[in-house]
Amino acid sequence: MGTGRLSIDLSAIVANWQALASLARTPAAPVVKADAYGLGVGPVARALAAAGARQFFVAYAEEGFALRRALGPGPEIFVLSGHMAGDARLVAECGLTPVVNSVDQLMRHLESVPGQPFGLQLDTGMNRLGMEWNEWAAVAEIALSQNPVLLMSHLACADEPDHPMNAYQLDLFRQMTDGLNVPRSLSATGGILLGPDYHFDLVRPGIGLYGGLPFEHARPVATLDLPVIQVRDLQAGEVAGYGNAWQAQRPSRLATVSAGYADGLLRSLSHKVTLWHGDTPCPAVGRVSMDLIIVDVTDLPEDPEHLSILGPHQTIDQLADAAGTIGYEVLTSLGTRYARSHRE
Ligand SMILES: *Cc1c(COP(=O)(O)O)cnc(C)c1O
Repeated sequence: MGTGRLSIDLSAIVANWQALASLARTPAAPVVKADAYGLGVGPVARALAAAGARQFFVAYAEEGFALRRALGPGPEIFVLSGHMAGDARLVAECGLTPVVNSVDQLMRHLESVPGQPFGLQLDTGMNRLGMEWNEWAAVAEIALSQNPVLLMSHLACADEPDHPMNAYQLDLFRQMTDGLNVPRSLSATGGILLGPDYHFDLVRPGIGLYGGLPFEHARPVATLDLPVIQVRDLQAGEVAGYGNAWQAQRPSRLATVSAGYADGLLRSLSHKVTLWHGDTPCPAVGRVSMDLIIVDVTDLPEDPEHLSILGPHQTIDQLADAAGTIGYEVLTSLGTRYARSHRE
């Protein structure tokens, strides 16, 4: 088989979900947007539902459609982009719960699918989504009379526990929602780790489920092994890859593995990333190309059949560091060419 093997440990995802829910002492609604951060929304959401998750978040109504098909009736599916023009049919037929972000979205929702549940997002300073103070003050009474099922906001700096923005947003969220008698949600993974003040009635973990920072105690979830297509010997002074960007300093043996930047192994990993054969590190050499990476295997006692790029020696966050990005982007970039398997 020519493609890399991406293996996803569903029991680790479930364990991470349980760990975050018990830290928060509230229900934890898995965030499964972007195909469960690239790991496969069907198997991931079904495993979490089987473990007891009753509420989920997606980004768009179209993702809600796919999730409803995977889960069947029952679980509540919140849509973070709210109620966009043209969403009414999906919202009604799939029983989605838009988290409306503006007065326009609120009116659209109430007019097009009256009686269909909805939540409300309030902006507490991130300036990305949600109603601001004045807008909320103007429509809160009308909105509350329609019985929203959730009031939520989102923290901009929760991965930096000491950042003053956290307390500022918490305070504003309280001022906007105290005493309203509607379930509240403020925290994603980072906020869960900030402590009980941030937990309210529902938390929304995403990256922590999938083994990423800032949840340091997360169990790793994804392993990625790349098959070696070809191995060759070079003399000192020979070069490898596009742009002759690497030159052998000693007699070398190079293995070419099948995955590249089209598979989310970002070109910025060039000259920076290490692959692993068992416990032995094997540095990649030259530039990452679209479908291929060249690896120095000179120090291995025998030619490898596979090299690992995500596994016990390299987490998504370590790979992200090498690429100059974050674990979220590593996961959501992995693409569709790998042979994926989901382990129970
Ligand atoms: C993506 C997202 C989450 C999940 O965030 P993580 O940092 O992955 O836990 C929660 N809430 C909102 C509004 C989001 O956009």
